[in-house]
Amino acid sequence: MTGQSQDTATYPPSAEIAANAHIDAETYNRMYAESISDPDAFWGEHGKQLDWIKPYTKVKDTTFDFGKVSIKWFEDGTLNVCANCVDRHLETRGDQTAIIFEPDNPEEPAQHITYKALHTEVCKMANILEGLGVRKGDRVVLYLPMIPEAAYAMLACARIGAIHSIVFAGFSPDALAARVNGADAKVVITADYAPRGGRQTPLKSNADAALLHCKDSVKCLVVKRTGGQTTWVDGRDYDYSELHAEADDHSRAVEVNAEDPLFVLYTSGSTGQPKGVVHSSGGYLLYAAMTHKYVFDYKEGDVFWCTADVGWVTGHSYIVYGPLANGATTVMFEGVPTYPDASRFWEVCEKHKVNQFYTAPTAIRALMGKGTEFVEKADLSSLRILGTVGEPINPEAWNWYNDNVGKGKCPIVDTWWQTETGGHLLTPLPGAHALKPGSAMKPFFGVEPVVLDPQSGEEIHESPTEGVLCIKASWPGQMRTVYGDHERFEKTYFSDYKGYYFTGDGCRRDADGDYWITGRVDDVINVSGHRMGTAEVESALVAHAKVAEAAVVGYPHDIKGQGIYCYVTLMNGVEPTEELRKELRTWVRTEIGPIAAPDLIQWAPGLPKTRSGKIMRRILRKIAEDDFGALGDTSTLAEPAVVDDLIENRMNKK
Ligand code: ATP
Ligand code: MG
Repeated sequence: MTGQSQDTATYPPSAEIAANAHIDAETYNRMYAESISDPDAFWGEHGKQLDWIKPYTKVKDTTFDFGKVSIKWFEDGTLNVCANCVDRHLETRGDQTAIIFEPDNPEEPAQHITYKALHTEVCKMANILEGLGVRKGDRVVLYLPMIPEAAYAMLACARIGAIHSIVFAGFSPDALAARVNGADAKVVITADYAPRGGRQTPLKSNADAALLHCKDSVKCLVVKRTGGQTTWVDGRDYDYSELHAEADDHSRAVEVNAEDPLFVLYTSGSTGQPKGVVHSSGGYLLYAAMTHKYVFDYKEGDVFWCTADVGWVTGHSYIVYGPLANGATTVMFEGVPTYPDASRFWEVCEKHKVNQFYTAPTAIRALMGKGTEFVEKADLSSLRILGTVGEPINPEAWNWYNDNVGKGKCPIVDTWWQTETGGHLLTPLPGAHALKPGSAMKPFFGVEPVVLDPQSGEEIHESPTEGVLCIKASWPGQMRTVYGDHERFEKTYFSDYKGYYFTGDGCRRDADGDYWITGRVDDVINVSGHRMGTAEVESALVAHAKVAEAAVVGYPHDIKGQGIYCYVTLMNGVEPTEELRKELRTWVRTEIGPIAAPDLIQWAPGLPKTRSGKIMRRILRKIAEDDFGALGDTSTLAEPAVVDDLIENRMNKK
């Protein structure tokens, strides 16, 4: 099955990119070898790029042994994460822009926040939080739009040693309440409304509804974003602008241990009950900073734009912590790619002369479906590096991105990582590797991927091969535990394959040793004894000119064991017909082979997605199995109505 539907072309870096990049092929090979043969020396040296209050003397102390899993990096060092992201830049780049805020409404002016201004705002926020009783180790929940105050609040928590837990502004009151209670938070920071795509989510009233299910002592700090009307509970609600007017703009950055938690973040919930992923202060920050610098080849003066939301780990590591630790200029975008129209991303790139642009395959596919005229009108000459994250990118979308956005000149880094990993684990480096569309390529420094046989759990050393992706040893950005439930941490990640970190993803390693993520292990289907990743069938479907998006799951099939069930979203204006169904079947058959031919195709006007844009296949599996009663946790769905539609169509056999 493997490889037949893949594009076999490779894209080496241009001579110019290779010559100017931080890391070329030779440097990568040397540094990677050093990082694996002597991690203590490698990380001990690189750890010095952070400012430590008390320098560490120990580097790595980690074990993956089930029953006693423990992960510690730089354990006797102390630092302050906020001081590393803000204060230490004041002398050299106080007047440089730290954050460019681009509002949802393009008519509203963008804001350029310098490092000096960032320092003032973060200090004020830190003092406000302290005034509300927040102390080192306390939890603060952020339920905010993508506005600068979200970054101020994250950094303010870090400044006073509090632990933040960000909840997507699109989540429901129930999801918010669960997270406030789960973390036993003292304060919730929210805003009146969240503008997004021209609409306004009433955040404060959602928070009001959530707080009915929380302890009375929880306080609510409210930022004014639109000035729209809200209700007010005296003694519980605090007006940010009022407190801001009086807040002192000096605040001490407290000393925390490298292993003290920086934040808790619940995973997006594609596969089941969300888990509170806990990240450390020292190791996490170092890993976010280093991956940001090398993977995006970030250079002094570059403008970096990651389109994620700060409610997702990508926003933590690559909008806030990584870029700011490196003294970068980072763009914070409040809106969506299609508002006011499908040219918004490209207009923002032109407007702010963005050098690195990092987004998700789902956004690329959505924009691809709208045609090229939207991207053609913008001047994208400032772009140097493109990136993707979140899902396997199908070669069709990769090529569209490369041709239309990168104009064939910008390396695309396909970064594979997880909330749990803190930063990129598998990715090409732009000046070092010949890219292959759809491949996450190589391990980052210090990362030892292994492919295991799913049945025996044995390591497979030869290539090409395919199996379960695990990681052999710890890296500094690794999560430390599940909040309040270390047992769940061990059980989820270290019990299936003893001695390894189990990623939950399947992968293929090709003859060159490059890695291809095939999707979640749960998404592997077994058709008449042939195992295949659903991503491959999806790629084939999306490669058809009339298909905008596709999701494939297995369902019980009398003869084959599992059958192939495809949910297909057609391009704008394409008529769903019986003939097209046949055409798609034949198409997949010729693209991959008869074994992969879809058994059932359901037209799907929309697919159920998490707020970070990932397809929730577990829900689609249930629908395909006609098991509508057991959909599980749907609180993290972006648009719950999509599911009702699919169920109705399933019942009507459309
Ligand atoms: P949950 O763990 O709660 O089910 P989730 O796995 O969607 O949610 P994230 O940590 O945001 O939460 O996503 C990580 C997963 O996303 C990876 O395990 C992988 O399946 C997928 N992924 C991320 N980046 C890539 C990529 N570049 N290529 C392929 N898959 C990717
Ligand atoms: Mg996951």
